[in-house]
Amino acid sequence: MPDQFDSRSPDDVDDVPTVACSRCDREWNLDYELDELRVGNQSMERFALDHKRHTGHFPDEVTPWVVACRQCPDGEEFLSERPARRWAETHARHTRHSVELKHTDEDDDEEPTVVSPPEQ
Ligand SMILES: [Zn+2]
Ligand SMILES: [Zn+2]
Repeated sequence: MPDQFDSRSPDDVDDVPTVACSRCDREWNLDYELDELRVGNQSMERFALDHKRHTGHFPDEVTPWVVACRQCPDGEEFLSERPARRWAETHARHTRHSVELKHTDEDDDEEPTVVSPPEQ
């Protein structure tokens, strides 16, 4: 991929979706995900996960579900609720910790969902 900033306006009609990251101050098109990885509709998701894995943060316009343990430093971010909830429930089950689950797109005043360990 040429190492140049893609300055096309978002209004341009283009088959290849683009992703921007203000933290990296860069913009990418997803032709690699579409052509090389052949992930099609999941190209945005794949890019976001790869970006998180390699840089430690998600690109712009991605509002992850955040799980954070209340009793230990463990936590994770996910692109959808289902794996986030699964992580929370699994952590609660194994550690008997309570885990907070929150979508960062929501109003900051909103209380996070708390996943508590199952009764035994
Ligand atoms: Zn970035
Ligand atoms: Zn924990």
